[in-house]
Amino acid sequence: MSRAKGKAAPPAAGFASRVVAWQRIHGRHDLPWQQTRDPYRIWLSEVMLQQTQVGTVIPYYERFLQRFPEVASLGAADIDEVLALWSGLGYYSRGRNLHAAAVRIARELGGRFPTDRATLESLPGVGRSTAAAIAAFSVGAHEAILDGNVKRVLARHFAIEGFPGVSSVEKQLWALAESLLPAGDVEAYTQGVMDLGATLCTRSRPRCVDCPVANSCEAHRSGREVQFPSARPKKVLPHKTTVMLVLVREGRLLLTRRPPSGIWGELWSFPEFDSAHAATEYAVRQVGRLSGETELPPVAHGFSHYRLTIQPLRCVSSGHEITVSEPGVRWMSREEALASSLPAPVRVIASDVELD
Ligand code: SF4
Repeated sequence: MSRAKGKAAPPAAGFASRVVAWQRIHGRHDLPWQQTRDPYRIWLSEVMLQQTQVGTVIPYYERFLQRFPEVASLGAADIDEVLALWSGLGYYSRGRNLHAAAVRIARELGGRFPTDRATLESLPGVGRSTAAAIAAFSVGAHEAILDGNVKRVLARHFAIEGFPGVSSVEKQLWALAESLLPAGDVEAYTQGVMDLGATLCTRSRPRCVDCPVANSCEAHRSGREVQFPSARPKKVLPHKTTVMLVLVREGRLLLTRRPPSGIWGELWSFPEFDSAHAATEYAVRQVGRLSGETELPPVAHGFSHYRLTIQPLRCVSSGHEITVSEPGVRWMSREEALASSLPAPVRVIASDVELD
């Protein structure tokens, strides 16, 4: 029986206690961020885990903490260094928000990392679920979480129809998450419901046979596990094209820093143009004369809201003319470029381009 949209579903009896008992024996206990109550470290792990798998996050988490052992050192760092350490994790707005939040904590909160949900939620990049997880794991606060894994478990267990990105469906899931929260054992329950989603109730192959809540799971009872949660309604993504100027001079590449807002904010990239003509005009202004232009193979990149095809145009400077010096424009060796914070497709182009 599916529940009608908009109606709060009653909690399943014993759901939380079964999750807690299962977590104590079968849950994850050895993740690096589980060995601490430091809200800074928990925050770092929660933000890194927002769109990235645990296995990928661990080395990034450790490198980050080595360089920035506390929030003060992160807040005092240059954004370039933060983004370079983030490079490869994707969704760079998370890295920028981490830095912005650390700066705010230093300036407005006396350097003390908050542990209450409301203040946490006011930090850049911290939503309700992340704030609740930090509060629960650092001080045992009685707060419900609802990350992607938990949404999947609840949508399946209670057969909640509809795409969770739709606000009425999300509201229903939040009401469930709150009603299921036990009076005690909040940390074990929170960790347990996350672990359940990450290890058993996985997207395409849930292992219901090992699941502690299988005997009350509506999706399992009706054999419709993978039908929940409903997929995002399909829409055709728009397609955009851009020309990137790959300007080579004496073995170096010209890179520009992107503006803070918009895609790839503050990352280094090749200058972008609407046409090859505009790209070569700019190149000539930079270096005087060109000895050749070559279109390199196009590079495709997908964003959540559109698809992008990049046409790299390699231009080689023919002389030693002085380059115009502009803020946010820099000549880099290949090694310098690859050590900087580059968007993934720009990194591919910078790795492969001939510098002779
Ligand atoms: S029984 Fe299966 S579908 Fe239901 S919560 Fe457990 S793993 Fe998920």
